[in-house]
Amino acid sequence: MNPSDTLVIVGAGHAGGRAALTLREAGFAGRIVLIGDEAHLPYERPPLSKALLKGGFKGECSLASCSLFSEASFIASGIEHLSGVRVTGIDTAQHSVVLDTGVSLVYSKLLLALGGTSRRLELAEHQLNNVHYLRTFDEAVELEKRLSPGTRLVVVGGGFIGLEVASSARDRGCEVTVLEAGARLAARALPARVSEALLTLHRCKGVVVRLAAQIEAFHGENRIDSVQLASGERIPCDVLLVGIGMQPNLELAHQAGLETGSGIKVDAFLQTSAEDVYAAGDVCEFARNDGVFHRQETWCNAEAQGRVAALNMLGQQQPFTGVPGFWSDHFEFGLQTVGVLAADAQIIEREGVEDGFLLLYLDRQSRLVGASGWGAGNNIAKDIKLCERLIESQTLLPAQQLADASVSLKGLLRGAHA
Ligand SMILES: Cc1cc2nc3c(=O)[nH]c(=O)nc-3n(C[C@H](O)[C@H](O)[C@H](O)COP(=O)(O)OP(=O)(O)OC[C@H]3O[C@@H](n4cnc5c(N)ncnc54)[C@H](O)[C@@H]3O)c2cc1C
Repeated sequence: MNPSDTLVIVGAGHAGGRAALTLREAGFAGRIVLIGDEAHLPYERPPLSKALLKGGFKGECSLASCSLFSEASFIASGIEHLSGVRVTGIDTAQHSVVLDTGVSLVYSKLLLALGGTSRRLELAEHQLNNVHYLRTFDEAVELEKRLSPGTRLVVVGGGFIGLEVASSARDRGCEVTVLEAGARLAARALPARVSEALLTLHRCKGVVVRLAAQIEAFHGENRIDSVQLASGERIPCDVLLVGIGMQPNLELAHQAGLETGSGIKVDAFLQTSAEDVYAAGDVCEFARNDGVFHRQETWCNAEAQGRVAALNMLGQQQPFTGVPGFWSDHFEFGLQTVGVLAADAQIIEREGVEDGFLLLYLDRQSRLVGASGWGAGNNIAKDIKLCERLIESQTLLPAQQLADASVSLKGLLRGAHA
């Protein structure tokens, strides 16, 4: 890479921020421009629904706690950060982007780390006063202000964000009802056994969880004061949190004529269908090891792809091979998943400590392809890390030994490397 080159990153979230840092750490001394429409330095989103929502916000201090950079290290890095600025167009032939300020910027290489936007409910304008979504720090601040002991919070959607908010709000003394349209919680991402553990925990903690809930109407004059179900029952509501998933921000890619599917399509090196344009994070659709194209909406993916995309922008040609994984925290419990929870896999259950458990997914050759675990605190983390290494090792594993909690996973891994 020539020092006179300009590397432009659009989207100053996790993947974009990580990429900018990596470019400098890898020795690129030229111009790096990081453009983001949020007013903040890049930050990590997981604490928004957990620690920050639970503990309340103390202004910029809490934002600093989840920022990828300290203010000082950011200044020292010499990365130009255009905050509160939106990119409105890309001209791949001219190698330029257009900003909402009217200015154009020429790039040598471009990274699109655009993330996504919360899926919206169709509601009348006058109902929106107490309706919240949670994707950004600013939205978390607004939501947190509304949560007090006794507040009746109705959560639409029993996925991770809805349930984490339910857990944090309950810890703050709110009366919480979760309305999930499906037959079980977080069904898209979790095995039934883990969904069941989540449901039991939330109900034990006093969260009212309605499965197969069909919402008929939202009532209220200037705000939603009750949610009516198909049964006719009305659930009183002071605050409504909508957690029904997100949509990747694809407008720029469409306008620029990039190949897209459920995200911006990339090759093994995270390069899009346009020369010198890369994509990373929630917006990126890539082929897994098994050749299936998919997108991930996880911290691990944003972290790993941000890094790999940056190195490839510098010409390193590193294929992206990250093992997928995510975690989610609820009250004093946590769940974690690694690898692929393949529908045709053999599932082995293994006991964990303090009512925890681990589900191990084996392929036909008896190799570990995925694992999902549940446990108190961070108990499951060590086993999941070992599972990640067992997945990478491609070792043949005896199902009987995996099921036996007295046979250590570390021992099996050592055996794999013997
Ligand atoms: C509340 C919450 C909790 C989460 N908890 C977990 C968890 O426990 N575990 C886990 O694995 N994952 C979790 N995630 C998911 C994880 O945070 C995301 O996968 C990660 O943030 C994705 O990073 P990204 O850089 O791809 O997108 P983002 O972090 O969303 O960054 C994209 C940025 O691009 C900006 N942008 C978009 N378009 C433009 C444009 N045209 N011009 C300028 N800027 C633009 C956006 O505003 C945004 O700032 C959570 C997410 C949320 C919202």
